[in-house]
Amino acid sequence: MLITEPVANLKGVGKETAEQLASLGVHTIEDLIWMFPYRHEDFTLKDLTETPHNEKVTIEARVENIPSVSFVGKKSRLTVTVLAGRHLIKVVMFNQHYLKQKLNPGAIITVSGKWDRGRQVIVGTHIKMGPKQDGTDFEPVYSLRNTVKLARFKKIMRQALDEAGHLIPETLPAYLREQYKLLSMQEALEGVHFPRDPNHVKQARRRFVYEELLAFQLRIQALRKTRRESEYGQSIQYDVNKVRAFIETLPYELTGAQKRVVNEISKDLKLPQRMNRLLQGDVGSGKTVVAAIGLYAAVTAGYQGALMAPTEILAEQHAENLHAWFDPIGVRVEILSGSTKTKARREILQQLKDGDIDILIGTHALIQPDVEFKHLGFVITDEQHRFGVEQRRVLRDKGEHPDVLFMTATPIPRTLAITAFGEMDVSIIDELPAGRKEIETHWMKHEQLGAVLTKMEMELRAGRQAYMICPLIEESDKLDVQNAVEVFEQLSTYFYGRYQVGLMHGRLSAQEKDTVMREFSEGRIHVLVSTTVVEVGVNVPNATFMTIYDAERFGLAQLHQLRGRVGRGEHQSYCVLLADPKTEEGKERMMSMTETNDGFKLAEKDLELRGSGDFFGKKQSGLPEFKMADLVHDYRALDVARQDAVRLVESEAFWQEEEYAPLRKTLEEAGVLEGERID
Ligand code: ADP
Ligand code: MG
Repeated sequence: MLITEPVANLKGVGKETAEQLASLGVHTIEDLIWMFPYRHEDFTLKDLTETPHNEKVTIEARVENIPSVSFVGKKSRLTVTVLAGRHLIKVVMFNQHYLKQKLNPGAIITVSGKWDRGRQVIVGTHIKMGPKQDGTDFEPVYSLRNTVKLARFKKIMRQALDEAGHLIPETLPAYLREQYKLLSMQEALEGVHFPRDPNHVKQARRRFVYEELLAFQLRIQALRKTRRESEYGQSIQYDVNKVRAFIETLPYELTGAQKRVVNEISKDLKLPQRMNRLLQGDVGSGKTVVAAIGLYAAVTAGYQGALMAPTEILAEQHAENLHAWFDPIGVRVEILSGSTKTKARREILQQLKDGDIDILIGTHALIQPDVEFKHLGFVITDEQHRFGVEQRRVLRDKGEHPDVLFMTATPIPRTLAITAFGEMDVSIIDELPAGRKEIETHWMKHEQLGAVLTKMEMELRAGRQAYMICPLIEESDKLDVQNAVEVFEQLSTYFYGRYQVGLMHGRLSAQEKDTVMREFSEGRIHVLVSTTVVEVGVNVPNATFMTIYDAERFGLAQLHQLRGRVGRGEHQSYCVLLADPKTEEGKERMMSMTETNDGFKLAEKDLELRGSGDFFGKKQSGLPEFKMADLVHDYRALDVARQDAVRLVESEAFWQEEEYAPLRKTLEEAGVLEGERID
């Protein structure tokens, strides 16, 4: 028998069964063996005395009376009294009235269901006639979608494993299985489909999780190796003394994390391979100065640098910073955006081409076809997720394999970052500059809005400014959401004649948004009512008060991003979450926000509460789907697998020896060896 034979070749699988299996995507014996259950149910016998209320149980019992059946509409309810050990209890079954014929007084049955301790009732899910059979303690639950009956499916599976299970090749080398005490392929398949006990299931799962994660990491590491070897870049020989001298001129000492990242970046600059690095750092962690040091290093080596930001305001803010640092030392910085006048633009483009401009800052305007550099060596993209892959590629292609750094303020737990951005190196600034004041965060009920406004007004009176964040911009029938327009009108009335209220939302044109943001940053608007469009990275240090309406509607990562708009200056800042969460999870989110200002801690909490799929957003995540592995719970295994993969792809043995052939095959199947690229 071959594993590639059709299932119909198994004894007792007729045309009808074969068709049913085909509808589940099972055509060959191999398909069948790889059809894993989505969970295992525990049918070990329990003693009712020790079973807590509402817990699932399986018991053996004797039927004590003739069952009674009642109907409500089409639904039936069967009730029978049984004796389970010393307990005389009732069993209730819904829509299984046909059992009445079988349940004769004196019969021994096995019942599984939920134990209602108070009423002494089991609400049953399964009743089997006779005492409990051996070897049925842990039943796999397959997604059979009303096709083949479970008992029959198991018979077919048993036959498939007996006759062809040994033909499924072992993929893991013996020494790795030894090292991590992993089951062999055959033992693990047995553990998935016919586990002896809970530990058997657990060990089987461990093995498949490791195997999946290793195969996945091998793909990533092999890709990186291919890239390293095939894609040359430029070795940027910067002047270390000049760079050090520049760092000396800064008004503050770099944090330990900033120093570490500066070193990582400069090492990459010097290497002949192209840099492809992601810099993650919480809001306010000081990414800009790190970027500036990198750009300056490239300039000292005779290259040009580019810094692209998603909005004009951000680009201008960067330009302001860089002018302050670089004008005194004769480094030419220019800015190019949609609003650069034609004549100025023409001049900038010419000087850029001649190499007279050292660093060009800008928005999407940087990727216009007529923007040509003389000698672009280093490209930085701020808030990288705001740009598409294509836009980032266009900018990169304006140089000869320039080094590339992406920056993001979205904290992603380290383990996930390694996975999600597998093809990039990751640098993390996980430390805030000293002396930063923690943002004081409070969780309040919506009915306490009055008190919140009083506190807000105290801040305004002290000369500070405030944000008011609302989830949606217009009233919706479905969602009972306070909308920005309405709040804007209310606050305008409330503060009438005293403070200026502004409104910002997604339906404004780019021009209008810009105007509103500018008025706010110049202090002409005191309270800014806004949806979540309020720009990431915008710096209005005088804003010290933020209220977030319907905060329970936001994920932790987003709440944290929003909160990062305050706490940027010398004054103590406050964030009030107005929320009446209904779920425990919602309450936990609010509590977490009040407990920490650390974006990485919150990201981990968020991940724990929501799972990796939701964390990244289902579609755009780009995260691989695994059969068994779960990136949240198996992150340790992921790290182990990554280290093994790094070691393996660098070893001769992996590429040559027989015991690695099955793992190499997974690479071939993924097209990695033909030089496929993720980026
Ligand atoms: P982000 O990482 O959010 O882009 P910024 O680069 O805008 O953060 O830095 C936030 C603020 O912290 C800026 O005002 C900057 O001058 C200041 N800053 C950066 N690094 C340090 C440091 N090492 N010590 C003190 N202040 C710093
Ligand atoms: Mg920034």
